Amino acid sequence: MSRIKGIEVKVQKEVLQTRKYGLNEILKKKNDDQNNSKDATEKHQIKELLHKLPRLDKIFEVHRKIGEGTFSSVYLGSLRQHAALPDSEKRWFAIKHLVPTAHPARIEHELRCLQDIGGKDHVIGVELCLRNLDTIVFIMPYIPHKKFSEYVGEMDAAELRQYMRALMIALRHVHSFGVIHRDVKPSNFLYDRDNRRYLLVDFGLAQRLCPAPEETPAPPPAHSNGIRKRPRDEEEASSAAKRVALDLSTGAPVACAAPPVPRCACAGAGGVCGACSARPPPRCACAGAGGVCGACSARPPPRCACAGAGGVCGACSARPPPRAPRAGTQGFRPPEVLLKYPHQTTAVDVWAAGVVLASALTARYPFFRAGDDVAALAELADLVGTEPLQRAAAALGRRVVTSSARRGLCLRKLAAWLRGQGAGQARGAGAEPGAPLCTRCRLPRNQCLCRDEIKKAEEFSAAQSVAGFPDAAFALAARLLDPDPRSRISAAAALAHPFLAD
Ligand code: ADP
Ligand code: MG
Ligand code: ZN
Repeated sequence: MSRIKGIEVKVQKEVLQTRKYGLNEILKKKNDDQNNSKDATEKHQIKELLHKLPRLDKIFEVHRKIGEGTFSSVYLGSLRQHAALPDSEKRWFAIKHLVPTAHPARIEHELRCLQDIGGKDHVIGVELCLRNLDTIVFIMPYIPHKKFSEYVGEMDAAELRQYMRALMIALRHVHSFGVIHRDVKPSNFLYDRDNRRYLLVDFGLAQRLCPAPEETPAPPPAHSNGIRKRPRDEEEASSAAKRVALDLSTGAPVACAAPPVPRCACAGAGGVCGACSARPPPRCACAGAGGVCGACSARPPPRCACAGAGGVCGACSARPPPRAPRAGTQGFRPPEVLLKYPHQTTAVDVWAAGVVLASALTARYPFFRAGDDVAALAELADLVGTEPLQRAAAALGRRVVTSSARRGLCLRKLAAWLRGQGAGQARGAGAEPGAPLCTRCRLPRNQCLCRDEIKKAEEFSAAQSVAGFPDAAFALAARLLDPDPRSRISAAAALAHPFLAD
């Protein structure tokens, strides 16, 4: 009752204020109030950090907050000894303060990645790490950058080519260490547009590749749940939390995944080659144990009566859920992550880079918007087509059932549409009577976004371009967004692709 009264009083006050000051002034005052309280909170956080870590205060001036995630706050800093210098001559640093609840093994792993991999090929390095009790900061070189959404529609073909080259160089470097970054996305690939500098940051979810399951002695490798959970992942955090704790307590600070499976002559063919038939069946350690190992969870499930039906049978609901790493950000997860395939590889990052490229080509960010894994799979099916997705899933021992078949979208047509050639008009509207229609979507041919039936998405013509972007850029996007991780192009090979090659 009193709360309701409180609201009434507030509304009345605002009504009175509206009469006195006018709405715009009130909104401005509200914004100012919010900014002031944000500044005050930030100042308080900086003061607290410096109090907890006096050595940081001794060496650095901490100016303001420049980034915030669920697991860290990042501040802009400069050296105290440079205090008298003009800003242009100071050395600037990004000071990443990790939340005190982060597991020490995870922090150690992030630091190791920065130390071992960083400082080269557009990959962030670390200058210093300071710790006092549970307060830990990484001090890294600072790079000014804007939000991707501010420049995604402005990049032309030459700029996009440079940007994608830098991203692929960074990924090639990280992957050469047998590490999957797992969180490739624009807010982790910082771009200083004025000076054309690039930095891949944030190894908080990075994961090391492990030997293939058949070579791994029992017990099976710790499942790779990416250790850290993003806020978006927290819907799954309760079930994963126990396993994460277990992995860490068994002395496995680094989550593991299998290296890429070498392709052999029989892949996709009608038989099994000598090498494959001589290979021992994958060893499994879960028989009789309380869990399911990676090899077993990768195995296609036996077909049962409920497959394709509207319900789940007793046997199926009793089956333990597949366990696989899914750390990363929604919208950038490839099919193998969404399908919980346990033996993920560096191809995970390549897919995410493909999403970035698709975003830049279509000037749409975010490119995928689904809120959960099933909706995300439906979005992927719309883009790549149901059949290629189902084929890729089958190769991973998974089955994707959809209510309708989709041929897939043509990224070239989509880019042309979204970038304005026709975007002023609602699709399907204003069609000339008698204009030829697409036999699939029933839209006039010049408005249809269906995939080309003859030309493959990964083929291109040097003479063609779409919305100012060479056809080769779209061909590369198709190779990066290959739903099958085994045939997806690698970062190193992408650098030799005609869109990116020197
Ligand atoms: P989190 O793990 O919380 O996502 P990140 O390492 O990604 O932390 O940093 C969060 C944000 O802080 C980045 O998106 C970026 O805006 C900013 N940031 C991080 N490192 C730097 C840096 N070296 N230079 C400039 N800004 C940075
Ligand atoms: Mg980040
Ligand atoms: Zn069509």
